Amino acid sequence: MFDRVWLDANLCTMTVAGEGPLGVIPDGAIAAKDGRIAWVGRRAELPATAAITTRCDGAWILPGLIDCHTHLVFGGDRAAEFEMRLDGASYEQIAKAGGGILSTVRATRAADEDTLVAGALPRLDALLEEGVTTVEIKSGYGLDLPTEARMLRAARRLGQAREVAVLTSCLAAHAVPPDFAGRRADYARHVAQEIIPAIAAERLADAVDAFTDSAIAFTPEETALVFEAAKRQGLPVKLHADQLRDDGGAALAARVGALSADHIEYANAEGIAAMAKAGTVGVLLPGAYFVIRETHPPDVAAMRAAGLSLALSTDCNPGSSPAVSLLLMLNMGCTLFRLTVAEALRGVTVNAAAALGLADRGTLAPGLRCDLAVFAIGRPAELCYWLGRNPCVSRVRAGEDARVVGGG
Ligand SMILES: [Zn+2]
Repeated sequence: MFDRVWLDANLCTMTVAGEGPLGVIPDGAIAAKDGRIAWVGRRAELPATAAITTRCDGAWILPGLIDCHTHLVFGGDRAAEFEMRLDGASYEQIAKAGGGILSTVRATRAADEDTLVAGALPRLDALLEEGVTTVEIKSGYGLDLPTEARMLRAARRLGQAREVAVLTSCLAAHAVPPDFAGRRADYARHVAQEIIPAIAAERLADAVDAFTDSAIAFTPEETALVFEAAKRQGLPVKLHADQLRDDGGAALAARVGALSADHIEYANAEGIAAMAKAGTVGVLLPGAYFVIRETHPPDVAAMRAAGLSLALSTDCNPGSSPAVSLLLMLNMGCTLFRLTVAEALRGVTVNAAAALGLADRGTLAPGLRCDLAVFAIGRPAELCYWLGRNPCVSRVRAGEDARVVGGG
């Protein structure tokens, strides 16, 4: 006897148990026991009954969606800067007016933990309403130990305030803070020697991230220092790589066995091949590509040919991607990067789980967490097709109905 079964549903299992790359099982059933998936298959073959039966009226069930790259916690926002730019202000004028990433650093340093949590909740809720059950959240707007730690504590609290699994990444190596102006290498050493050990001692981070960009962030050598510090603490690493130019970030990520290399618009063929060989997931972030009006898309054809696993994410952040819709990213991944529907949907489920090093979710298979997203759609392609329509009708976390608004 199961705890609960879902019937009258079509399943995208993302496994070989079903048809095609989405692992489709039409007229399927899922059974849960103790928060895990106990059985998946055709309804006609369901082997036992359950205490609770949920009929889905022909809806489609996917693994709970996973947003594997966000900067959801930050102080302030940059709407005024967005408006200034459209009114004709130059980047220099905006910088002089205190804009850009350092304005977010200032606002984040000035915000206490409660303020950071309250500011992030509406953004998190928007993701949850679309069926997200796991979200990654980075630090990276403190660029000093107290604020980086506060951001990560706020991220952990979000996971308690809502029915969602939150994974945290320490992105202290996001930019050079004003206090280290002109001393980029010194700051990278500070991150490696002071910030990462202290964050690890408090168990605030599940991974360490960095931004390799020789012009506006850190060189591959400085990034390697940060990654060595992560390794000493037993933390896996991820990388913002080759977003605006080819800095060899993809190859670096592969060399250190990173879980993922993200953005990778300019990754070269050797880097892509090395990532595929190392099992490093490529995380594509079409929201940032769209907002900064980039014109050099990632070489998806080469990535596909190399057998690289691809994920898709919102990159939700106040500057380059104020995106709070993973469904919109599905459309953008298909429209801007020419991903297939199956690639896009695998990119927010099974491959997003791999980008976070999670083996217990991302597919519908016995033994995995029973995290589900249920959509009232006629076919899976609709999730990628609509812009601004949310067909998510319910969210299940560890076998239980998950409300969007938590507490109580
Ligand atoms: Zn990012």
